[in-house]
Amino acid sequence: MPDKNNRGFKKPNKTKENKDLKLNRRDFLKLSVPVTGLFVFGLEPIFGQASNETPTVVSPDTVAMLYESSKCLGCRRCEDACRRWNKLGDEYRPTDVSPKSLTTLKYREVNEKGKTKWLPSKWQCMHCLDPSCVNVCPTEALQKTKEGPVSYDESNCIGCQYCVSACPFSIPRFDWEHNRVVKKCTFCTDRLAEGLEPACSSVCPVNALTFGDRKTVIGKAAEAQFNGAYIYGKDEAGGTSWIYTSDVSFEERGVPSVKEESYPLYSKTMLGSQLGTIAFGLTALGVYSVYLRRKRLNGG
Ligand code: SF4
Ligand code: SF4
Ligand code: SF4
Repeated sequence: MPDKNNRGFKKPNKTKENKDLKLNRRDFLKLSVPVTGLFVFGLEPIFGQASNETPTVVSPDTVAMLYESSKCLGCRRCEDACRRWNKLGDEYRPTDVSPKSLTTLKYREVNEKGKTKWLPSKWQCMHCLDPSCVNVCPTEALQKTKEGPVSYDESNCIGCQYCVSACPFSIPRFDWEHNRVVKKCTFCTDRLAEGLEPACSSVCPVNALTFGDRKTVIGKAAEAQFNGAYIYGKDEAGGTSWIYTSDVSFEERGVPSVKEESYPLYSKTMLGSQLGTIAFGLTALGVYSVYLRRKRLNGG
């Protein structure tokens, strides 16, 4: 005769099940410690391919670009030249960098003595001296070259988008439409290898873009600063290879404000916290499954 309360199911042997439960929980704890450790500490070296706790020493011979924004006409020839060289197509007028436009002109509307004026600002990868994108890239698709540019090899990209989160200038863009990898300006490393200057500076009709060695570029920017100009890129994110000058503040131009400290340290913290969240999630899931199992055994 089946037991009414038991509804025909075999009554669980609580002593044995509790032993199993303890074993499971113990097993879980045994497992969760190394799993948590693996996520928090074990993967960290993968992301720490470059040591960035020490200040970056940059050779004055590395290449750089001076962008004198007050000379810029906003004609977008540089944008078109970039798209042509990188075979991204023509006739596209983006408002921000995108997989189809690795550089773009941003415009800020200002009112000057009752008249509306548009301030153009060219925007692209800044080629940081200590690039956080390189620091987090697990496949070395992004590399800081000794010549200065931060190169990008699409064939090594796995589309994880860590670089997208890590970049303080919000530059790498994920290409959802095509090959699901990121895209960013490479400083025309392929042209530089052939002894050519970058496509954008080669077409500027008013010499608002000056390509050269970093020492010369910094010298020109310092001279402009001495004469009252604002400068951007020299110290932002620990220093970059693109140096901007302007007669009006960069805040007024709508160029993002970026801290002066090098960012790889922040990106490590960010990844640490992401991995910590994953580890916490795994632990919480394990605890919850033990709770559910116990509840079931207790008939709850
Ligand atoms: S601007 Fe962003 S993508 Fe470019 S080098 Fe710096 S961190 Fe990398
Ligand atoms: S998306 Fe590509 S380039 Fe960016 S971090 Fe991942 S592998 Fe590196
Ligand atoms: S080509 Fe020169 S002037 Fe024209 S938008 Fe580009 S930087 Fe400005």
